[in-house]
Amino acid sequence: MANRDMLTKSHVCIIGAGISGLSAAWEFSNSGFEVDVFEREALPGGLAGWFESAGTTLEKFYHHIYNKDQDIIQLIQELDQRENLVFKSTITGCFYVNRIYRLSSPADLLKYKPLKLLDRFRLGLLALRAKAVKDWKTLDTLTAKEWIIRHAGESVYTILWEPLFRSKFGRYAPDVSAAWLWSKLVQRGGSRGKTGSEELGYFKGGYGLLFKELQTRLGARGVRIHLKSPVQEIGIEDGRATRLKVSGEWVKCDAVLAACQLPDFLEAGSTLPEEYRRELGEIGFLGNTCLVLKLNRRLSETYWVNITDTGCPFVGVIEQTNLLDETHYQGYHFAYLSRYMDIQDPFYGMDARNLFEAYLPYLEKIFPNFEPDWVLEKFLWREPHAQAVVSVGYSRKIPADRTPVPGLYLTTMAQIFPEDRQMSNGIKLARRTARLIAQDLRR
Ligand SMILES: Cc1cc2nc3c(=O)[nH]c(=O)nc-3n(C[C@H](O)[C@H](O)[C@H](O)COP(=O)(O)OP(=O)(O)OC[C@H]3O[C@@H](n4cnc5c(N)ncnc54)[C@H](O)[C@@H]3O)c2cc1C
Repeated sequence: MANRDMLTKSHVCIIGAGISGLSAAWEFSNSGFEVDVFEREALPGGLAGWFESAGTTLEKFYHHIYNKDQDIIQLIQELDQRENLVFKSTITGCFYVNRIYRLSSPADLLKYKPLKLLDRFRLGLLALRAKAVKDWKTLDTLTAKEWIIRHAGESVYTILWEPLFRSKFGRYAPDVSAAWLWSKLVQRGGSRGKTGSEELGYFKGGYGLLFKELQTRLGARGVRIHLKSPVQEIGIEDGRATRLKVSGEWVKCDAVLAACQLPDFLEAGSTLPEEYRRELGEIGFLGNTCLVLKLNRRLSETYWVNITDTGCPFVGVIEQTNLLDETHYQGYHFAYLSRYMDIQDPFYGMDARNLFEAYLPYLEKIFPNFEPDWVLEKFLWREPHAQAVVSVGYSRKIPADRTPVPGLYLTTMAQIFPEDRQMSNGIKLARRTARLIAQDLRR
């Protein structure tokens, strides 16, 4: 009983109400802790945040899940929302020179004409080779480029993979770790249904609905979520994190969990040990912009079109209504035009009108029937820390859950490696860190 009293007195403050911060809060809410979550924005959700249109919520940045994303599926179940999670066999394609090639299944791969037949086989063999890898860390000593060229040849790299890496990592593409690619090949291979096509999941009503539900359920369990409450400083006294400065006021606590992106953590942690700040500062990020088009008809049947034409200013067209059909959106269609880039890139700062003008010739090339008057509305979203640069040797840079400052913990996207930074992986990490904090506080 004395132990229980001690637990109820423990007070944890969480920075950030994205999926990680709220999942950690959910984990804590089961263990009798006093929990405050501070979020600088007016809504929770972070990178998985939403906007409203066509009578529903849509993500600012496209979001699907894989059927192997166990941790988000479990969270959805715990929130009694399983009936809203739907999976669908989706079409993936690749735009090369003048047409979209279907690249959804191993059979499509064998028909991928831009590569010679022998190269298509070698590409397939690369995926099989990936499955046989026992210890991914051995791959983190190689770049993905080296690994692909070694096992599948130069053409497979330059024709298929190089443009895909460029689309996600920009100028860092040649440095990306082979371990990251390995994880992607294994994970995506594992999310195929009986037909060999990928099965992707989505939350009906949008993740906005899931966040609203999580917020309500956390509130009912006594967790306080403070919106429009930026954390300005992490207070360290006698070498221990003991408080947060929020909107000019200090809030005392027993433990702090930073559930935000690394650059934001470093900004609030200006008094963290210099060496630690330097190490974390070495991890670079790319920004992303998504121009979301509300359309009066569909662009194509493909959910995800990768663009491997190097001149194109966007790198993917993700047609949301090919994942969840238009009947859920009052008959309208939605497509995301995505671009990753350094935030110094002139495209990062462009407004929706100029961006659309720059994108228009390519939209017409990719979808030959496309007419600008199909577009009824445009929404533009940008995010400076959309993807950590996972270059070779990244496993040595992954920050630990416990920081060097007692009482201060970290759960952040940049810790997710070699897996991709899916929400599900963020939830897994956040819940693990919450259990670690509980364990430390009980000592
Ligand atoms: C373009 C794009 C596409 C993606 N696609 C997918 C996908 O298809 N499927 C998938 O599963 N995942 C996808 N993701 C990844 C997913 O969005 C992230 O992994 C996840 O949302 C990260 O959640 P988080 O809580 O760790 O961080 P965040 O969502 O970044 O949350 C951090 C929160 O902290 C707040 N914050 C920061 N600093 C402070 C401060 N000082 N005080 C108070 N609050 C602060 C921020 O406002 C934010 O709300 C995608 C991401 C991007 C960018």
